[in-house]
Amino acid sequence: MSVTVVGSIAFDAVKTPFGERARMLGGAATHFALAASFFDAVSVVGPVGEDFGESELAVLATRGTNVEDVERVTGGQTFFWSGEYGWDLNSRETLRTDLNVFADFAPKLSAASRAADVLFLANIQPELQLSVLEQCTGPRLVAMDSMNLWIDIAREPLLEVIRRVDCVIFNDAELRQLTGQPSILGAARELLGWGPSVVVAKQGEYGAALVTPEGFFALPAYPLARVVDPTGAGDTFAGGFVGHLARNLDEATSDHVLRQAMAYGTALASFNVEEFGTERVERLTAGEIYGRVDELKRITHFELDPLSLETR
Ligand code: AMP
Repeated sequence: MSVTVVGSIAFDAVKTPFGERARMLGGAATHFALAASFFDAVSVVGPVGEDFGESELAVLATRGTNVEDVERVTGGQTFFWSGEYGWDLNSRETLRTDLNVFADFAPKLSAASRAADVLFLANIQPELQLSVLEQCTGPRLVAMDSMNLWIDIAREPLLEVIRRVDCVIFNDAELRQLTGQPSILGAARELLGWGPSVVVAKQGEYGAALVTPEGFFALPAYPLARVVDPTGAGDTFAGGFVGHLARNLDEATSDHVLRQAMAYGTALASFNVEEFGTERVERLTAGEIYGRVDELKRITHFELDPLSLETR
């Protein structure tokens, strides 16, 4: 099986209460690919500028990720985003977004990227997501992410993308903003009526919820006493979640595989936030991921004791 991802490939400037980086490798597609490549073959689609170095490309190509469709635009600058977090690491302020090479990008997918079984439309202009969707003729599973900026300025094309995918992975605020529904469950169920059959609501340090027409499942975030930089946590979660579905494609929409995918996404995201940018996930091992998935299972397990009520 194989996964194609389109989304931002970026340089990020990030400040948190625990430090800062003036220019580090980032972008939704980058974080997604680093996580998904633990599970399956990944192809990344997107442009970079002349400022994008060989060392950054090498990180993108970790675990064999295909970077054939990473287009270097002559004279162009790589997408740039900067943000700042306060003590509440769940909320951040975007200081700057420069689309740069993404502003006039028209994706042309190679045969390998077009042939993917799974397509992930990571966060980027919805028009670009649509263009990739049109070129990928036969994926068996399509998942997507987006953000408040595109809900604000490109709502119509975004709705068109949502109607055409199987799975949306949004954060709770985006679900509320998109549907106008105050309850996450209500918002997720409304989205299920628009086309997708799986909705994941990411809730930062409070975990993530899975909503399907048949049911509901939720996991807390993996408990960490020290979080350094949450940038890319959502994309890393998506990489683990979608990667596990791709690895189990014949059963990808079954309840037990979706629940496992939630655990893999949660474990991967927990590593991402321990250091800045891609620093921690770059040297992560499969054994470390498995250890946290196993620990999550233990943390969330409990036994029912009906007698506790009957004796009163
Ligand atoms: P997350 O923390 O999961 O929301 O993802 C953060 C990543 O998204 C950063 O590495 C940014 O480069 C990227 N990003 C921020 N704003 C945008 C945007 N408007 N479009 C695409 N990617 C973005």
